[in-house]
Amino acid sequence: MKQLSLRAKLYILIMTVLIPLLILQLVNLLTRYETAMENELQASKDYADTLSISFTHHFQYLWNAELAIGNHLINSKYSFTPEDIDKYLRQFLNLHPVIREFSWISPDGQVIANTYSNTAKNTQDSDYYQHIISGEEIYISDLYTTNSGELSIASARGIKRNGNLVGIIVAYIDIDKIGMLLPSQKRNDTVSFGLIDSQGKIIYQNTNLGLTIEQRDIPEDSPAWLSLQGQPVTSQDYNGQGRIGASVPINGFGWAAFTTTSVNEVLEGARADTNRDIIVLMLIGIIITLVYGLLIGDHFLKPLMRLQKAALAISKGDLTARANLEGNDELATTGKIFDQMADRIQHLEVSRTRFLQTAAHELRNPMAGIKGILSLILRRFQTGKPLTDMTNMFEIMEREIDRLSDLLNQILEAFRTQRENGMLTLDLKRVNLLDIIDSAMKPFQISKSCKLITDSNIDKTIWILGDFIRLEEVFRNLLSNAIKYSPDDSEVFVTVQVEEDHALVTVQDHGIGIPKEQLEGIFECFYRASNLEKRDPGGMGLGLYICKEIIDSHVGSIWAESEEGVGSTFYVKLPLY
Ligand code: ADP
Repeated sequence: MKQLSLRAKLYILIMTVLIPLLILQLVNLLTRYETAMENELQASKDYADTLSISFTHHFQYLWNAELAIGNHLINSKYSFTPEDIDKYLRQFLNLHPVIREFSWISPDGQVIANTYSNTAKNTQDSDYYQHIISGEEIYISDLYTTNSGELSIASARGIKRNGNLVGIIVAYIDIDKIGMLLPSQKRNDTVSFGLIDSQGKIIYQNTNLGLTIEQRDIPEDSPAWLSLQGQPVTSQDYNGQGRIGASVPINGFGWAAFTTTSVNEVLEGARADTNRDIIVLMLIGIIITLVYGLLIGDHFLKPLMRLQKAALAISKGDLTARANLEGNDELATTGKIFDQMADRIQHLEVSRTRFLQTAAHELRNPMAGIKGILSLILRRFQTGKPLTDMTNMFEIMEREIDRLSDLLNQILEAFRTQRENGMLTLDLKRVNLLDIIDSAMKPFQISKSCKLITDSNIDKTIWILGDFIRLEEVFRNLLSNAIKYSPDDSEVFVTVQVEEDHALVTVQDHGIGIPKEQLEGIFECFYRASNLEKRDPGGMGLGLYICKEIIDSHVGSIWAESEEGVGSTFYVKLPLY
């Protein structure tokens, strides 16, 4: 699989945080749906109750009105002709727009007056007549088809005088106008509500006016059947077709009031809220991801890029390139290690160049000397000139060859030290440091005034555990340098002191000194200070390097203090035996 970029990994990391949030949001959505449905069921039930109460009140009012009309007709001093009655009833039609007609019927079922002329004159077969005649005071019929083919319900009231039925007043209801009696529903447009009679026929449904009598049967599995038996019912799947609703009994009528709403409509609000939340969440997610990706991504990428750039530059030969990473994290640490590695490579490269330059320079002089003398001898030989002064010439050649041999020995010594990883093989014995210094000074005492100053408290021995030959080499080197880098007539002082558990030897001169910033460097392989240009007595920059290796191997330390043009002091500290 293709390796993912760091940034892609970061994005994935962030998304793994966001995805649970999205899942939470989905769970939230389901809860919202559930709450919305529960609220809707409650609202449907309340509304169906309101329909039931409102309808009952209205019919109560209608029956009262019927009683008032009937009483007026029977108590009147005047005897009404059917026309008078008809005229009188018509006045009420205007007051009750839901009533299509009124009839005044005699106890034997004859229609005495009727606001609607087509009505049959004998009502003995009608439902309401039978109920009133059998003693019921008020009655409301189920849905039926009138003789003229219209659908209606009849509200009848028996009018009595002294306990005897003297007339029946009947109001025929225009079922399509029943909606006027019901409280309007403003919650949403898809709400359907209405009334069902005891036979399970829809008397009124706001969304379905003008149905035929056959179309009004409610389905057999409709929850409304339970309401017709007296139970309130709520259902999330009312009559199927994605509707939620409730029905309640209309007590005393044997009817039911119902209301249903589209589930989609109910959930739309919750869905809209959730959609909005999800969009907001996604936006926040995207913004966080981008910002995080850019900031944190850059936080990781920038150092990596710098590291990469530095590595590339070094691979192309620019050994001065560095990553220069700041901070304490793993990347910064890697950067620092990388820089150290680059320092080391650069250092090695500088040493190599320095060695080549110095070796070439140092080898050239003796070689030139030897070649010069050999050429002179050869020319004299060819021209037949006498070969005089040969001893001197051979001496010069021998000196130059010795010099060459010294140089090569130094180089071999330095490489040997390097190859053995800085730890020299020493012949350690209990030795007297003063003897070593004394021995080291011997060759110089003839040509130069080297003064040894020792601490007055010291007797003739300072015991240390060391390699006599190697330590002698150290002090000889220091003395040789002190003389080499000083004017001919200046003095070199050597002091020896004992301090606590160690001895401290100093070699002090009043020579050319060493630039301060190069004091550390002089102990490196092939390092030569920059102030030699004017007057260079020659050297390969190996002596002090070898000294340091020897002293380090003795668990001691070596360092220098110097001032340019004033002089230098070299310190060697060695543990006492
Ligand atoms: P070299 O063969 O060049 O003398 P060393 O390792 O002995 O090599 O010394 C390294 C460099 O340190 C010398 O090239 C010189 O620049 C500087 N140096 C050493 N000793 C002295 C000194 N006593 N005074 C001034 N410079 C010194």
